[in-house]
Amino acid sequence: MVKPMQAYEGKAKKIIPLDDGKVVMEFKDDATAFDGGKKAQFKGKGWLNAQISAHLFRVLEEKGIKTHFIGVAGDNKLIVEKLDMYPLEVVVRNVVAGSLKKRLPLDEGTELKEPIVELYYKDDSLHDPMINYYHAKVLGIDESEVKEMERIALKVNEILREYFRERGIILVDFKLEFGKNGRGEIVLGDEISPDTCRFWDAKTGKSLDKDVFRFDKGDLVKAYEELYARLTGETPSRT
Ligand code: ADP
Ligand code: UDP
Repeated sequence: MVKPMQAYEGKAKKIIPLDDGKVVMEFKDDATAFDGGKKAQFKGKGWLNAQISAHLFRVLEEKGIKTHFIGVAGDNKLIVEKLDMYPLEVVVRNVVAGSLKKRLPLDEGTELKEPIVELYYKDDSLHDPMINYYHAKVLGIDESEVKEMERIALKVNEILREYFRERGIILVDFKLEFGKNGRGEIVLGDEISPDTCRFWDAKTGKSLDKDVFRFDKGDLVKAYEELYARLTGETPSRT
């Protein structure tokens, strides 16, 4: 059910296990979209995503969400608790965008009456298909575990939606990944960044996320820097 932990280089990050139950998560400047069909590099993106993730993990920890975040290790690296990751992507949506338009007869930008939670099986060769409790069960993941991830995901949505609203930003949708720690607890892992969320400026609708790259909407680093500044109140200062 869970993947064994080894050094790993993914599309956006490198994962380097330490020998004390922690791992270094190094954020790369690489960007990919459309199933790897579109690729580019943006100097500074790794740093911005590491810092934004760290900031949001701290916000969530303060509100009682268990995350893998331990600390920032300089530049584009975080130290996190090693987790046995579930091969799942848990997506939460508040507003219609992206692939939801292919699933429901609703226009882009329509606010949903209730948040939608979706489950995807993380497998590039299958193009990350959407799955349900039955598929998860066959993959060795119990319905109770999926329900716990969904519960946490909705709580994260409640906290972050309000946090962004206060900063004039709409949290449109986002993807979370979970894993089990050494004590058998289900913990929020991976990243929460403009690579994995959609953020729209509440006044202008301008994207402050990876859609800038997906749909050539402008300067990705500028958009991520604006998001960083609006979250932290600080001008980005990379070392
Ligand atoms: P991908 O694997 O989709 O290309 P990334 O480049 O972001 O994605 O790689 C990061 C990998 O690290 C993912 O497979 C993710 O599930 C995994 N991961 C995230 N958090 C942890 C953690 N705390 N412990 C172990 N693995 C993790
Ligand atoms: N997402 C992600 N990784 C994925 C798929 C989706 O981080 O492999 C995020 C994406 O950035 C968005 C949300 O999950 O914030 C919903 O994505 P959607 O299903 O609309 O797919 P997309 O059109 O972005 O590929």
